[in-house]
Amino acid sequence: MPELNESICLLCERELAEPISRHKLIPPSKGGKDGPTVAMHRVCQNKIHAVFTETELKNYYFTVERIQENEEIQKFIKWVKKKELSFDDVSIKKK
Ligand SMILES: [Zn+2]
Repeated sequence: MPELNESICLLCERELAEPISRHKLIPPSKGGKDGPTVAMHRVCQNKIHAVFTETELKNYYFTVERIQENEEIQKFIKWVKKKELSFDDVSIKKK
C-alpha cells in the first residue's frame, strides 16, 4: 500500500495550503466518528458538503473517486484549479 499523500488535496489534486480541513469519508453523524479522514482544502471540503447530503455521503460517496465522478464536483474542480491554493469561499452553504 502506498502511503497516503498528505501534501496534495485529494479532491482537486492541487498542493495543500491553509485553510485545510479533514474530510471524514463517513459523516460523524452517520457512524463515521472514528472513520478514515482525508486532507483537503477547506473550500474543497465545503463543496462536498454543499453538493451531497450526509446520507448520500454515507450511502455512496464514501470514496474520493466516487465524489470526483460527480458532474457538479468535476465542474468545481475545473473552476477551483484556476484559484489561489489558499482560496476559500465562505459563501458555500452546507446541504
Ligand atoms: Zn482542494
